[in-house]
Amino acid sequence: MQRLLRLELHWQVLMAMLLGVAFALTFGQVSWIDGLAEIFLRLLRMIIVPLIFTSIVHGVAGIGGGSHLGRLGLKTLLYYSLSSFLAICVGLILANTLRPGAGVTDFGNTEFSPEDLEAPASLAETLIRLVPLNPVAAAANFDILGLIFFSLCLGAALSGMSGAQGDRMRSFFDGLFELVLRLTLMVIKLLPIGVFALIARAVSSLGLGVAAQVGKWILTLSLGLAIHLFVVLPLVFFLLTRKNPFAHYRAVGSAMAMAFSTSSSAATLPVSLTAVRDRAGVSDRVSSFVLPMGATVNMDGTALFECAGALFIAQALGFELSLPAQLAMVLTAFLASVGAAAVPSAGLVMIFIVLEAIGLTDPRAYALVGLMLGVDRPLDMMRTTVNVTSDTVGAAIIAHSEGEELNY
Ligand code: ASP
Repeated sequence: MQRLLRLELHWQVLMAMLLGVAFALTFGQVSWIDGLAEIFLRLLRMIIVPLIFTSIVHGVAGIGGGSHLGRLGLKTLLYYSLSSFLAICVGLILANTLRPGAGVTDFGNTEFSPEDLEAPASLAETLIRLVPLNPVAAAANFDILGLIFFSLCLGAALSGMSGAQGDRMRSFFDGLFELVLRLTLMVIKLLPIGVFALIARAVSSLGLGVAAQVGKWILTLSLGLAIHLFVVLPLVFFLLTRKNPFAHYRAVGSAMAMAFSTSSSAATLPVSLTAVRDRAGVSDRVSSFVLPMGATVNMDGTALFECAGALFIAQALGFELSLPAQLAMVLTAFLASVGAAAVPSAGLVMIFIVLEAIGLTDPRAYALVGLMLGVDRPLDMMRTTVNVTSDTVGAAIIAHSEGEELNY
C-alpha cells in the first residue's frame, strides 16, 4: 500500500482506470460507485469558479501592462486557431477518404428531436454574452466565459494600480490564488479514487447497442483523434519548441486521464492547471491565462468531431457537399467548437449549427444525431482528452516562446 501511494500520480490514475474497467465488467452498475463519482465531480466543480477567478486575476496582474497582455493574447489566439484548423483538416481528409456514412441505410428508430437538447447559442449571441451583466451572477450560474471576461478586466485593472494600495491588492490576490491552489491540490489527492469511480460508472452505462450501424463512424473519429493527438500536436510542439512532445505528455498525463474520465474540459481544469505548472514548469502568468480560456474555447477534438460528424450525416443521406458548402462547414465547425460548453456531450449539441450552415435540416439528419448520441460517451471521452491536451501543449509552447525554461 505504501509503495502504491508513493507511485507517481499518473501511474496511480492509470491503475485506477484499469481497476474501474475491471470493476464495471464484474459488478455492472453499482449505486454507491455512481454516488462516489458524483461527489468527486461536485468537488471539482466546487473549485472551478474560485480557481478561474483567482488564477486569471493573479495571472493577468502578473503579466503587467497592456502590451504584454496583448502579446500573450495574440499568441494564444494564434495557437488556438492553428491547432483547431489542423484538427478540422484531419477530420475533413479522413471523413472524405473513409466515408463512414456511406453504408448507413437504417437510421434506427431512435426517437429524437433537437428540442430535446438545449439549443446552442448563435455566434453573435455568444459574443454579446461574453460581457456579463453581473459578475456574481455569472459565477453563480457557471457562465464561464462571462467569468473569464470579468476576471481578465479586473486583472488588467489591478496590473495598472500603482502605489502602496496597488501592492497591497496584488499581494492579496497572490495569497488568494495560493489558497485556492492549496484547496485544489487537496481535491487532486483524491484523483485516483475519483477516476476509478468515474470510469466504472462510464463503462457500466455505455450504450453500445447501436454500435454496429455507426461502427465505421466510431472508427473514423477515433482514428482522426488519434492522428491529431499522436502526430499533429506532437509535430507542432516539436517544431515550435524543439523539445520531446512525449516528455510533455508524461508531465500532463494526469490531466489527460482526468479529461478521459470526466468528458469535461471544465472539470479537468484544476488538474491541468496544476500539472502544467508543477510538472511541466510553465509559469503562473502563462498557465493562468492560457488554460482557463483554452478549456472553454480551444477544443481541437470537438472541432474535428463537428466536421467529420457533419460529413458522416451528409454521406449517410447521400447529400453531396459542394466546395463552398465544405468551406462553410470548416468555418462553422471551428465556431461550433469555440462555442461548445466544456461539459459532456456539448459537442454533439453544436453539430446542429454545422448542419444548418450546410443546409442539412432533413428530419433524417436529426435521427442520425440520435444514433450518434447512443455511442457518444466513449467518443466524448476521447475528444475531451484531445481538447485538454491541446490546451496544455499551447501553454507549453507559449511559455517557451516567452523564454521560460520547461522541466523537460
Ligand atoms: N466534452 C467536451 C469537453 O468538455 C466537449 C464536447 O462535447 O465536445 O471538452
